[in-house]
Amino acid sequence: MPDTTGQDVPCPYCNNISGVGPAPHLSSGSDFDIPVAEFDRTVCVPTVGMLTPGYCLLVDRVHSSSYSTLSRDQFEMVVADLRKSLNLLEPVFGPYLVVEHGFATRRTVPHGSCIDHSHFHLIPDSCGVLTESVLGSELAFHKTSAGELENLAGHGYLLIGVDSEFYSTRFEGLPSQWIRRRLFEVRELTGSWDWAADVGRDNLLKTRKMLRECSEEGNRGQ
Ligand SMILES: [Zn+2]
Ligand SMILES: [Zn+2]
Repeated sequence: MPDTTGQDVPCPYCNNISGVGPAPHLSSGSDFDIPVAEFDRTVCVPTVGMLTPGYCLLVDRVHSSSYSTLSRDQFEMVVADLRKSLNLLEPVFGPYLVVEHGFATRRTVPHGSCIDHSHFHLIPDSCGVLTESVLGSELAFHKTSAGELENLAGHGYLLIGVDSEFYSTRFEGLPSQWIRRRLFEVRELTGSWDWAADVGRDNLLKTRKMLRECSEEGNRGQ
């Protein structure tokens, strides 16, 4: 049973993961719900609002508002799943930038979050422009260990993963979908950064195709 304790409306991610029913504002029960990989602690799914092929979310099976609220052991389980996801994705889509944007869409001031349920955005960034743009932004990032995450609990923040290290910054009032806006801008994309305006179906189809071809190549090579 998904735990949506403390929330005034059912959590759409809990809803999706538990299979209770599609979350209409996430994906209308479409191909986006089919996981790329499933683990004990998390599920890796293609993101709705797929601005670039290979853009996925790693979503916790258990509800919590953000990773800063997890124990160190719990977070390390998430990181183990994150590594497995990247081992699967990076050979196909190149190096990734990993982003968690804290919580609090339901506060009066949004904090960069789309949904209040712990999840990482896994964003292909083979040429490094997004990572460079985020690290070079007005936000001051500090290297952050799993044991230091609790210092972020209750705050607006960004946590990013680059080359197996985590960096964080506390920031109140980050605009909603901040990371999508940033990606849209640095890649000079056309269309919309807003997942509600463009789910990115073409990129979903490309993602499935590229993953399939890579696994077929792997099978042939054995
Ligand atoms: Zn949830
Ligand atoms: Zn998000």
